[in-house]
Amino acid sequence: MIRIHTLILGGGLTGLSTAYHLQQAGHSDYLLVEQTSQPGGLCRSFYKDGFTFDCSGHLLHLHTAYGKKWVRALLPNNLRRVKRNAWVYTHDTYIPFPFQANLYALPEKQRRECADGLKDRPVYATPSTFKEWCLTSFGKGIYKHFFRPYNTKLWGLPPSRLTCDWCGPFIPRPSGPQLQQMLSKKSTRPWGYNTYFYYPVHGGCGALVEALAKRVLNLRLNTRVTSIDLTTKTARLGTQTVRFDYLVNTLALPQFLQLLKNTPALSRLASRLKTVSVLVYHLAVRGKGKKFSWIYFPHSKDPFFRVGQQSSFSPYNAPKGCRSFYVELPGIYAPSRQLEKQIWNSLLQKGIITRYDEKITAFWQKIPAAYALFDKTHTATVQKALCQLEELDCLCAGRYGRWEYSFMETSILQGRETAQKLL
Ligand SMILES: Cc1cc2nc3c(=O)[nH]c(=O)nc-3n(C[C@H](O)[C@H](O)[C@H](O)COP(=O)(O)OP(=O)(O)OC[C@H]3O[C@@H](n4cnc5c(N)ncnc54)[C@H](O)[C@@H]3O)c2cc1C
Repeated sequence: MIRIHTLILGGGLTGLSTAYHLQQAGHSDYLLVEQTSQPGGLCRSFYKDGFTFDCSGHLLHLHTAYGKKWVRALLPNNLRRVKRNAWVYTHDTYIPFPFQANLYALPEKQRRECADGLKDRPVYATPSTFKEWCLTSFGKGIYKHFFRPYNTKLWGLPPSRLTCDWCGPFIPRPSGPQLQQMLSKKSTRPWGYNTYFYYPVHGGCGALVEALAKRVLNLRLNTRVTSIDLTTKTARLGTQTVRFDYLVNTLALPQFLQLLKNTPALSRLASRLKTVSVLVYHLAVRGKGKKFSWIYFPHSKDPFFRVGQQSSFSPYNAPKGCRSFYVELPGIYAPSRQLEKQIWNSLLQKGIITRYDEKITAFWQKIPAAYALFDKTHTATVQKALCQLEELDCLCAGRYGRWEYSFMETSILQGRETAQKLL
């Protein structure tokens, strides 16, 4: 039996940040356990045939002074600021992203439908679904041509069955008069939280977690937590038992709740939380082509919902004269030769790759818990679970621990906040 003050579950960015901040405050009586042989979780990178791949796109959206300073200190001379070059493929045309701020670029028929929708937007003072939020923000046309098809594909549910609890900071929401103006003219204003982003020059996103993990002393890899009892404050790490005073969870909340013993009311909440998974097809080709950061594909005839150009984030992500991409598909798809062929045909037809490009490498990656599903039971269930867990001295942090929609900077900040709470 090991005795420890704080046991931290999961060696992704959130767990590492929590450990780092505890250590910085002089607290070393903690143990951070990670089930795999490498730290970093979803922020890891893969190095293959001279290419650097991330777990689909992993770009640093740093909006706080602390986040920027912290990342810069971990990656001295290894961080670049990149301007977004993102698009939406719709009705056989590429229009700049975000869709709602670039209506002028739509084909005439769709542009007119968006204009009509803007004129009579329904008023929902407090929208109860994501559909209502979209209709009140943008009207019927924009909803029909982008928000409905794109979100149905990504979440696997229509917006009428999703809440809008997640979307506020992430979806740019121009005012009515601004949308009207953008029907006929390009906006000079940048829209959205990701108009610029940061990215390591060398090593992909993984460079950040590699640099961080080197500074974390009590990290134990290849160590899986198999059960937790919050009433006795013990956890099983395979055959070993750990007794702790405080527990920090960064694992996906539904999975974590399933590991709990002797707190049946909490365990039962797991079945009310739904998960959205994503299948990623990574590929690398020899050949030059279209320059872009990423493109959204709302329509159902394309199996993927987004394609990103990994080699555009840093020139060192691919050897000279080569390009690399990540193609994101809803998790209902399974890897197959047929699907691979469909992806290649679709990328060729859209001019993303050309028939002269030579395939160098390709591989699949499944992300089982990519997003928390924001259905009607989500928010109340998460609040209930987090409150009850905190009463039992268990703090949850990060996008998956708190079962929220957030990004890497949130992991860094919540790691710091959790360490402060523990201290
Ligand atoms: C497709 C996709 C694209 C994204 N793009 C971006 C982006 O561009 N920018 C951005 O800022 N964010 C992005 N994110 C979000 C980002 O990945 C997360 O915010 C961040 O990685 C969360 O880190 P974490 O440490 O909380 O979780 P994770 O990275 O999931 O880490 C959890 C760790 O727990 C370990 N673990 C699981 N079970 C056990 C167990 N039983 N015992 C021990 N260890 C266990 C796992 O192996 C993992 O290492 C994206 C996410 C996805 C899915």
